Amino acid sequence: YDDRDGKIWLDGELVDWRAAKVHVLSHALHYASSVFEGERAYGGRIFASRAHSERLRASGEAIDMPVPWTVDEIEAAKAQVMQANGLSDAYVRAVAWRGAGEDMGVSSARNPVRLAVAAWEWGAYYGDSKTRGAKLDISKWKRPSPETIPSHAKAAGLYMICTMSKHAAEAKGCADAMMFDYRGYVAEATGANIFFVKDGEVHTPLPDCFLNGITRQTVIGLLRDRQVKVHERHIEPAELEGFQQCWLTGTAAEVTPVGQIGDYAFEVGALTREIAEAYETLVRR
Ligand code: PMP
Repeated sequence: YDDRDGKIWLDGELVDWRAAKVHVLSHALHYASSVFEGERAYGGRIFASRAHSERLRASGEAIDMPVPWTVDEIEAAKAQVMQANGLSDAYVRAVAWRGAGEDMGVSSARNPVRLAVAAWEWGAYYGDSKTRGAKLDISKWKRPSPETIPSHAKAAGLYMICTMSKHAAEAKGCADAMMFDYRGYVAEATGANIFFVKDGEVHTPLPDCFLNGITRQTVIGLLRDRQVKVHERHIEPAELEGFQQCWLTGTAAEVTPVGQIGDYAFEVGALTREIAEAYETLVRR
């Protein structure tokens, strides 16, 4: 992704895509002092844009790394990037991190906090799984307790086990992995939240140790608008067998049906399709 034409917003100005570089002694590279956002624009408009900018700042606060830009400034940076790259339907990535500076130890309080915003065209995150239903592996890694790490932040450190889980899944021919949490309850996929359908009602894990996704919250709203009962609760592994439908939600994933998790199979059913279409309509409105 580094060798492209285009512009990236870096610390307040647009720079050439290939020139948007950082130093090898950046604190973030060594100690994961980094938070980021993933957003999608539809027809030139970023869905839930302010909510993403607010979450970026909240993630920074959560890892003791206040982002030195206001929501309005972040909004302006995103608009500039969209325009400079002539984008309409696009994925937007904002990332804030501790740069190189005074300290090279664990403390980074004196290192500058930097911010970059890039955007590019990015199609379906799960490719043709979007229509056929994704196949998920079950990860051996557990989502950590909120007493272990600020698990509600969208922070780079939380993604180490996600990448490892996803690599293991891909090696088995799966699109992604479902992860359990530190207590053994169903948590989420490596970059998306998870929903299940049983007898016309929806069950989704309580987001008490992972990201309460903006897409997740949007989809719960769409379900409740349709008078579908949504149970946010702890889900035991043994319950997987009794669910009829399953889907993932995320900015990149949008609403992606799941056809299989380990040995459990799910149908790409009517409610899954209805919600995927309703989400598509909403984000383009
Ligand atoms: N969980 C994880 C680990 C994620 O990376 C994402 C994507 N940001 C989500 C859930 C879904 O969040 P959102 O709907 O806000 O994109």
